Amino acid sequence: MPYTYDSDNIFAKILRGEIPNSTVYETEHTLAFKDIQPAAPVHVLIIPKGPYVSYDHFAAEASDAEIVDFTRAVNEVCKITGVKMDDGNGFRAIANTGHDGVQDVPHFHLHILGGRRLGRMIQPAS
Ligand code: 5GP
Repeated sequence: MPYTYDSDNIFAKILRGEIPNSTVYETEHTLAFKDIQPAAPVHVLIIPKGPYVSYDHFAAEASDAEIVDFTRAVNEVCKITGVKMDDGNGFRAIANTGHDGVQDVPHFHLHILGGRRLGRMIQPAS
């Protein structure tokens, strides 16, 4: 089944400037902003500006320029928020994806969480 992008999703509205956001970092292809319901002292969402539903969609169809820009933005956000491995205590990057990944917003986003020691990621399968 082809990827289907819903341009009414909340992050598309943020990108169009219809909903405000607390921007942390922005480039030609990428926007990073604070999560509205932070789950840790540092909780930033990094999104591509292009219409990609999920990480796999982005990895499959984004241009090299978009992918490089996004990846470098991860480094910049980690630098800005003080969680980089070479200058801080580290972080967790999460890309919830689809039904099983419990993704709420259908526009690819990477959560960057840090600023405290986070709990174990998931429970072992029973
Ligand atoms: P998901 O479950 O899709 O991985 O995560 C979606 C995230 O988007 C959640 O952590 C939620 O708090 C955040 N979020 C939802 N609506 C908004 C909004 O309007 N503004 C911001 N900054 N974050 C939002």
